[in-house]
Amino acid sequence: MTRVLNPVDNRVIETVPESTPEDVDRAVTRAQTVFSDGTWRKATVRDRRDVLRRMADLIRRDQERLARIESANAGKPITAARGEIGAVAATFDFYAGAVDKFWGETIPGNARGTLLTFHEPIGVCAAIVPWNFPMLILGWKVAPALAMGNSVVAKPAEVTPLSAMALADLALEAGLPEGVFTVTPGKGSFAGDALVRHPLVRKVSFTGSTEIGTRVMQDAAAGIKRVSLELGGKSANIVFADADLESCVGSSLWSVYDNAGQDCCARSRMIVERRVFDEFTERFVEMTRGVRLGDTAAEETEMGPLITPSHRDRVEGYLEVATSEGARRVCGGDRLDSPGNFLTPAVFVDVEPGMRIAQEEVFGPVVAMIPFDTEEEAIRLANDSIYGLSGSIWTRDIGRALRVVRGVETGMLSVNSSSSVHIEAPFGGVKQSGTGREQGMEALRHYSEYKTVFIAET
Ligand code: NAD
Ligand code: MN
Repeated sequence: MTRVLNPVDNRVIETVPESTPEDVDRAVTRAQTVFSDGTWRKATVRDRRDVLRRMADLIRRDQERLARIESANAGKPITAARGEIGAVAATFDFYAGAVDKFWGETIPGNARGTLLTFHEPIGVCAAIVPWNFPMLILGWKVAPALAMGNSVVAKPAEVTPLSAMALADLALEAGLPEGVFTVTPGKGSFAGDALVRHPLVRKVSFTGSTEIGTRVMQDAAAGIKRVSLELGGKSANIVFADADLESCVGSSLWSVYDNAGQDCCARSRMIVERRVFDEFTERFVEMTRGVRLGDTAAEETEMGPLITPSHRDRVEGYLEVATSEGARRVCGGDRLDSPGNFLTPAVFVDVEPGMRIAQEEVFGPVVAMIPFDTEEEAIRLANDSIYGLSGSIWTRDIGRALRVVRGVETGMLSVNSSSSVHIEAPFGGVKQSGTGREQGMEALRHYSEYKTVFIAET
């Protein structure tokens, strides 16, 4: 059994079973049996659409209940949790609408006959999910996988299993046949490992750290499983002197402090033109000092605790490393007088691009401020990373915005904005931030196989 805690006070909220490799084997075997039977795979597009649509409706019906679960389990301010649950419903809406709009082709060929492609489901898909956006990220995998007719076995992060288990219940209520979508909560190195290695699993969709992603990719090589990886990031927020600083500072700040910085898309490197560096930093620090930390159930709370005591220790370790390497902490980095894992948001200046605080993913509310002089230097700094997930560019010069957009190696970029998530568009990274894309019509490609058929004219 796993004791599930609330990061606000580290008290037990629930106890859930811990899946063993035998439990995983049962879930995968059953998922393969229903897949082979074709109950879901051969359901008409309308039937699949209707089930996904009902899932969206049920998530909306239960939005407050699910938001409370997610807030308590993942340490999220309740207002943020409500938004995330709304986004999960929107994910199921999108794929309900997409089911009948993703079709194959007839292709002109040289032989006498007809050349066709079908998009066919892959089979049993493993969905392995981290703790920072437990239900949202699960939805990005489950909705397109089900839309294409696959079966799914999901392994939520050990510390945040509750919303995934709730989603599995809602799927049954929505009319999804038993066994098509199963959640096996448990440890990564135990249940997760067994799931990735299971011979009946045909595809692994993993979101988590680059370290574990590397291992998952290796383990999936046996059996030539399809692999999608959404991994770490150290995204750049590039601010030019001509930017509208008023809107830029607040948006930039929440681009890293949202979810207490435990966000793969966090723009944790503020790369700021030297002419406005001091002004930007001053405003940023002033707003940082005003961020309201507290009880996640309270409507006014803006930032919750970090997920676990050990994760806070890790983030605090970076504060020490940064200081010892010569960076200067201007504010934050303090614990609250509370049994929860709170850490006030911290800003560093005097950061050299090679320092660990500028290179490694901290996954906490910690910002590195780095000045630049020229456009070329800004691009070079942004690309000086093993990662390439997200990022922002702030300028009123459209020509420059386009040049920098073209220059930055990343999967997603926003101009004069901090948003990275648009369910209609592909989401994912380059370099060590991962491979494959989630969301948009692109995700349907990643949960299907082409079948090419030639029919001779006789
Ligand atoms: P993690 O890599 O520690 O764990 C992710 C999941 O993998 C968990 O469910 C874990 O139990 C499981 N796991 C661990 N070892 C395993 C193994 N050997 N085999 C199979 N599964 C295993 O990541 P985390 O600490 O939960 O989340 C934080 C990380 O996730 C950060 O690096 C963050 O950037 C990344 N992340 C990326 C995205 C994205 O879309 N790119 C989104 C959110 C989080
Ligand atoms: Mn981890």
